[in-house]
Amino acid sequence: SSFENAGLHPQVLANVKLCQYETMTVIQGYCIPIILAGHDLVAVAQTGSGKTAAYLIPIISKLMGKVRKLQGPRSKGGVRVRAEPLVVIVVPTRELAQQIFDEARRLCYRSMLRPVCAYGGIPMGINLQELGKGCDLLIGTPGRLQDLMDKPDVLSMKRVKFTVIDEADEMLHTDWEQEMSKIMGGGDMNEVPDHAYLMFSATFPKESRAAARMYMAEDFIRVR
Ligand code: AMP
Repeated sequence: SSFENAGLHPQVLANVKLCQYETMTVIQGYCIPIILAGHDLVAVAQTGSGKTAAYLIPIISKLMGKVRKLQGPRSKGGVRVRAEPLVVIVVPTRELAQQIFDEARRLCYRSMLRPVCAYGGIPMGINLQELGKGCDLLIGTPGRLQDLMDKPDVLSMKRVKFTVIDEADEMLHTDWEQEMSKIMGGGDMNEVPDHAYLMFSATFPKESRAAARMYMAEDFIRVR
């Protein structure tokens, strides 16, 4: 299917063209309308299928029209603010976080949306500096995200509208249960109006099925 007829915000459509994406991949054709409609979603998709853009495009499109209304504080005159992201994307590796960040930057071009990337292995001070400028999309690994969430003056999850778990199978079979539960808001985000949980996974093992049942709305949609 084509991006033109998907009902996307004109700026994200222009950015999709700058990325030289001409037609939707299969997974994008399934996921984009579901995410635009506001559903929770579990999608079984391999790396290389275009899964990153399958969630970034509709999320960014939905936010672009109302950034001013939704967005958290922005730094003025170099004074650090608390980051209050609208989107949190959790991934198992630094490499994946960096890739998603690069794609998010391209798709957010000429909008007021600011992506920030935070993962272990780099000094926390760099994260604090980046987050302190303001943040709309936060992409990171579970351990570092948890460390940042433990600093209430640095990061607040109160504005989050989209919680994305990418490569969920990688994350849910390791020892990150406690971090994941905290990032997922213990499932309470279902009570937040217009919040959606999105889970992408190459396989759909029992841990991922259990997590979907635990965190997501009862009518979550499954795509494979
Ligand atoms: P992913 O599955 O998200 O790792 O994406 C694999 C690659 O496909 C990335 O390099 C994307 O930039 C690219 N890609 C994503 N969507 C499209 C599309 N609709 N058309 C062409 N390339 C795409």
